[in-house]
Amino acid sequence: MLRRLGAEVVEVRKPQQLDGLEGLVVPGGESTTFTRLMRLYGLDEALLRFTGPVLGTCAGMIVLDRNHLGLVDLEAERNAYGRQVASFEADLELAGDQRPLRGVFIRAPRVREAGPELEVLAEREGEPVLLRQGRFLVASFHPELTEDTRVHELFLETVRGRAAQPPVRGSGPVEGVRGNREVPSADATNGSVNVRA
Ligand code: GLN
Repeated sequence: MLRRLGAEVVEVRKPQQLDGLEGLVVPGGESTTFTRLMRLYGLDEALLRFTGPVLGTCAGMIVLDRNHLGLVDLEAERNAYGRQVASFEADLELAGDQRPLRGVFIRAPRVREAGPELEVLAEREGEPVLLRQGRFLVASFHPELTEDTRVHELFLETVRGRAAQPPVRGSGPVEGVRGNREVPSADATNGSVNVRA
């Protein structure tokens, strides 16, 4: 989806692979597995240091929440719609847009509480399913599984907006200068593991 929108995409599995990136997607998959592996590889610490825009989808939303990395001020309840058989698709209302957004919910989390900083961008039956907190965009569904590119466009707008700003100069000559324009992608393997679960 990001490549189709013109972004350069790389996969991130180790902390040093975050260096020089202008944005990050924490994909869907299995948050318990992510949490364990992120701790093992030190990717949790690296994510806490990462300052670029982040898109978290489904399990990605869970690991960013208050009870995990604590980067987004919301509480997501895992598997809150039930087991795999309770996975579903639904048309969502997207803020400021007449066209409904098709949401694919796969053993999706539900937002149980969201802090005042959170902006709700899409709802399903009055419940927030797409939210923004500054540089963080989180979705309880899988926006990469339809042909609709609007959520990824929103993410890339933030990435490109920040990249367009002049670098912040610190005391060192290269401080604040971003190396390249690569954006890591969702990991297809993680997604499919979950789909089969
Ligand atoms: N059920 C998964 C979890 O708890 C999330 C599902 C998904 O990412 N599609 O992490």
